[in-house]
Amino acid sequence: MLGLLPSLLLYKTPILYRNWFRELFGKLLASVACVVVLGAVALMNYQGLASLFRNHHEIRLMLVPSNFVGASLGYVGERVGSAAKPFRKIGEDATLDIAWQQRTRKSLTVLVVGESARAPNFGVLGYGRDTTPQLSKEKGLVSFTDVQSCGTETAVSVPCMFSGFTRKDYDASTAKNQESLLDVLQRAGLAVRWRDNQSGCKGTCDRVLFEDVSNLKDPALCADDECRDEVLLKGLDSFIDNLQQDTVLVLHQMGSHGPDYYKRYPQAYERFTLVCRSNALNQCSQDSIVNAYDNTLVYTDHVLASLIDILRSKQDKVDTAMLYLSDHGESLGEYNLFLHGTPYMLAPEQQKHVPLLAWFSDSYKASFGIDSDCLQKNRNQPLSQDNLFHSMLGLLQVHTALYKPQLDLFASCRPMLAAH
Ligand SMILES: [Zn+2]
Repeated sequence: MLGLLPSLLLYKTPILYRNWFRELFGKLLASVACVVVLGAVALMNYQGLASLFRNHHEIRLMLVPSNFVGASLGYVGERVGSAAKPFRKIGEDATLDIAWQQRTRKSLTVLVVGESARAPNFGVLGYGRDTTPQLSKEKGLVSFTDVQSCGTETAVSVPCMFSGFTRKDYDASTAKNQESLLDVLQRAGLAVRWRDNQSGCKGTCDRVLFEDVSNLKDPALCADDECRDEVLLKGLDSFIDNLQQDTVLVLHQMGSHGPDYYKRYPQAYERFTLVCRSNALNQCSQDSIVNAYDNTLVYTDHVLASLIDILRSKQDKVDTAMLYLSDHGESLGEYNLFLHGTPYMLAPEQQKHVPLLAWFSDSYKASFGIDSDCLQKNRNQPLSQDNLFHSMLGLLQVHTALYKPQLDLFASCRPMLAAH
């Protein structure tokens, strides 16, 4: 009944074919109309869809035919693309400047990789709300106002900023298949350590010491299979006291990871109230989403200020410094967009404009020849994650042919080393 009868009906139905050109044109038109209607429906429900896809990654893999087309392309790319080529070392000529031999103190350079923190909501960068009450009291802190991210999601931005490629040249499979900034620093002779309170370093730290603190069972800082970012500072005090080698320490934050912003901070940091307490953003007002998001930044402010306090307290024994750079921004309802990951070409400013902060102890400034007044004057210069690789090499006085001084944001503020 359900097979033969309809087939018979179909067989008997006369089909009038138009000529091939009109037929093709008609089908193309219908396809475009479908895509437009689908797009409009999706955009109108973006708030709900964005959090749905974020909370259930598997849905993406159920879309036909993009799932098997994407998987096939991925498979072919992996077998014949650059990922199939031999792994490439970079910066094999890396050495430390002779100035390192004259230092009597050890040094600790901390790089904090932020998560989903956007510059427009950062208090020290001029946001209408004071989301950074502690950092704004930090006189020596330099906050750069015009910094663009390399991607709009962690899986792009993190490998990109450590890769040595500029955003324009960045290719994910090439970057994945070669060493990163951390390998170069380690080869030059620095101890490199990555402390993670998130989902890992996306391949950038595969050959350096990796410490996952996201699953610690600290009763004060951890609950529900997640730890607050202060866990990154746990034991730092004694770590610095016992520092044997000049060290670069990367701290990877949970930061402002959405959509459940309200889970990212302890109650004491809920400065802005009426907060969205759901991971389905369509059930919340935009105000309550922004409130929850802003509270995550208030907590990040506390974590960074606490880190600076620790580093400052140790500066007589160890030269200490901190850089903070967020991986990408976040949409909070502007253009009806939420979360992040919009294709870079289409992504709004909110997803690409990120905070970059620098703090140096007095001993570090003296030892590494950093003029922080000069940096303060340059805080409005246009920068991007392209600058991280070369700025770290320059700051840490690592010599390699890879180094490009024009991308080193500290280069013009290092008068003592101008001769090098
Ligand atoms: Zn991210």
